[in-house]
Amino acid sequence: MISRKMTEMTKNSSAIRAMFEEGKKMAAQYGEKNVYDFSLGNPNVPAPAQVKEAIEAIIREEDPLMVHGYMSNSGYEDVREAVAASLNSRFATNFTGENILMTVGAAGGLNVIFKTLLNPGEEVLVFAPYFGEYRAYVSNYDGVLKEVPADTETFQPNLKAFETLLGPNTKAVIVNSPNNPTGVVYSEQTILALAEILNRKQEEFGSSIYLVSDEPYRELAYDGVEVPYLTKYYKNTIVGYSYSKSLSLPGERIGYLVIPDEADDSAAIINAANVANRILGYVNAPSLFQRVIARCLDAKADVAYYDRNRRTLYEGLKQCGFSCIRPQGAFYLFVKSPLEDEKAFCELAKKYHLLLVPGSSFACPGYVRLAYCISYETIVRSLPEFARLAKECGQI
Ligand code: PLP
Repeated sequence: MISRKMTEMTKNSSAIRAMFEEGKKMAAQYGEKNVYDFSLGNPNVPAPAQVKEAIEAIIREEDPLMVHGYMSNSGYEDVREAVAASLNSRFATNFTGENILMTVGAAGGLNVIFKTLLNPGEEVLVFAPYFGEYRAYVSNYDGVLKEVPADTETFQPNLKAFETLLGPNTKAVIVNSPNNPTGVVYSEQTILALAEILNRKQEEFGSSIYLVSDEPYRELAYDGVEVPYLTKYYKNTIVGYSYSKSLSLPGERIGYLVIPDEADDSAAIINAANVANRILGYVNAPSLFQRVIARCLDAKADVAYYDRNRRTLYEGLKQCGFSCIRPQGAFYLFVKSPLEDEKAFCELAKKYHLLLVPGSSFACPGYVRLAYCISYETIVRSLPEFARLAKECGQI
């Protein structure tokens, strides 16, 4: 008999994954070219050439006993120093290797930080719409996830509602910008206002409220938009970064946490996060890929490829009469469902071999998410199907 908790988790298992599995079945039935799978955020741009070159150079040049061996649970010192130096040069921060903990992707980093911070029953606030896996990451440590309802005008955090939901039991707040599922980048103005509220509430409650900035899409920003570096705006910020999307390495499971010295109880958090990384069973982030990213800190994702997809899909959907916010980052489009029940709309879309994810998976019903990290050709071929779908829904 499996545990009660896992029984629940299994029941609510990801709608995104379910759609992805369905896509594979449909591709077998109708042919891959005739299925338009917008379900999964799996980068379709290959990792930059530097990644392959780095792997080859490491195998050639570095001591295999070192490359494949155990190291400190936080990661290799030289890699952490290199990551800190790169952040300092990009964002004028003051980190050292001590502030960096190498993690098993963003998911591993978030689990480490929530294990480190949460007592059972403590609350974590999150702005809808949000990446549904946060529910599990918080529940893993018996925290309580509280959703701040979406501001569907702008999809910036709804700060009015946020302020009313903060309480003495709030331990952390998650932000994710560029955002999955909307593609919205939180503006500097939003971040300044968020920091002001958090500082005021910390004082009022005499507590520390940690802002956990989940940033796997930091490098995927378009139109020259700036993505503010949050440790500079609020001292109790902890950053979770990942190379899954920026270097197209989701299967390699590599990322890091930044725990700044300025954060309350920083030394204790760094120490506990190091232990959490070990006792969660990760032990340490994958060793080869720690060494790879230290050599690839200046490598760039092919943002132009995603940008062309973004513009083509956005313009194409607008022409069909769909309404959606113009995304400035990540590789997602969040579209208003023309049917009140967006799950029914996703079902209808399947008739045209279009696989979309219902907004309720992101705590924002009435919308659907499209991941456009697929081939440009697929996007172009999908547009007539969207036009047919729109017609059936009375859009055009
Ligand atoms: N956070 C967000 C917002 C994501 O979209 C994802 C993956 O899609 C993750 C975290 C997990 O990323 P990783 O593969 O680095 O664990």
